[in-house]
Amino acid sequence: MKVIDHINEAKTTLFSFEILPPLKGKSIHSIYDSIDPLLEFNPRFVNVTYHRQEYVYKKREKGYLEKIAIRKRPGTVGICTAIMHKYKIDTVPHLICGGFNREETENALIDLQFLGIDNVLALRGDPIKTEPHFQPTDGGHSYAVELVAQIGGLNKGRFFDDEIQNGQKSDFCIGVAGYPEKHFEAMNLKQDLKYLKNKIDAGAEYIVTQMFFDNKKYFEFVDACRATGIDVPIIPGLKPITTMRHITFLPKFFHVDLPEELADMLMNCTSNAEVREVGVEWAIRQARELIDRQVPCLHFYTMGKSGSVSKIARAVF
Ligand code: FAD
Repeated sequence: MKVIDHINEAKTTLFSFEILPPLKGKSIHSIYDSIDPLLEFNPRFVNVTYHRQEYVYKKREKGYLEKIAIRKRPGTVGICTAIMHKYKIDTVPHLICGGFNREETENALIDLQFLGIDNVLALRGDPIKTEPHFQPTDGGHSYAVELVAQIGGLNKGRFFDDEIQNGQKSDFCIGVAGYPEKHFEAMNLKQDLKYLKNKIDAGAEYIVTQMFFDNKKYFEFVDACRATGIDVPIIPGLKPITTMRHITFLPKFFHVDLPEELADMLMNCTSNAEVREVGVEWAIRQARELIDRQVPCLHFYTMGKSGSVSKIARAVF
């Protein structure tokens, strides 16, 4: 079932979450272990991130460095299918522009269609570590809007291979990313929203936000989207802070601010256990206010750890 249909049918705020494929070499049971404690909150869909191939340098004989391409977290589509099979829950594989040309994208979509997956979150992807800026693959997309347009085209039966006439139409529900604190590359929020609207006009049916720790930023973002003519559901993304490392890593990596009150609480912590408590308390506060304001769904970034999310969900659902 499509995410948009779950949202339209719901009478109250839904619960959903995002997981990462395990590192290569680890078993899928680590995924099940993180999903099992969250089942009691009736997740309507589970997102599975996509991780692009990266380049690493390995030391070889006589000091030579060999450049090797590796994907550390493969398995997005397999995990989606396994979750649907095991739990009968809908899944949303993330699909990115980076590393794919248009034909490979089309083939990936055909696989998803054949597997009975109804949803896709269409993203550009970040630049890989060895690139200063995002570089599209030859024959691939430069921005998420182009990927949305390709998926939208396939929904109308338009294939990249234009020799295919009257091809089987897909029926994907397309979600896209939005940034309450602006995407880090955008010149300003207004310009970012203009591009966000282009993704909706190209066929995206809902938005999932980047994590934020100040609800005011989300509410202002929703108002700004509405003023720009974006009228689709905007799902807030929440991330409970769980480690001392997150205090510097999250702002740096995700370009989000920690509000002063939260920062003060975190600065008083002396262990990961204390940080986890603060993270849970803060996310519960955020979640309660968001539910009061009747957001369509609370979407949690688990980053492979469901303990805090489970405590928050128990407190608010
Ligand atoms: P876009 O919408 O293409 O925007 C990227 C930038 O380009 C923005 O600054 C935008 O303002 C600008 N822009 C857009 N269109 C144009 C245009 N026509 N001309 C000029 N500028 C333009 N990354 C992964 O690799 N895998 C994942 O699984 C993943 N999941 C994510 C899930 C969520 C909910 C979120 C919020 C992010 C996720 N990301 C993931 C990260 C995402 O790929 C990065 O944030 C990436 O840098 C931007 O992706 P986007 O789809 O928002 O890009």
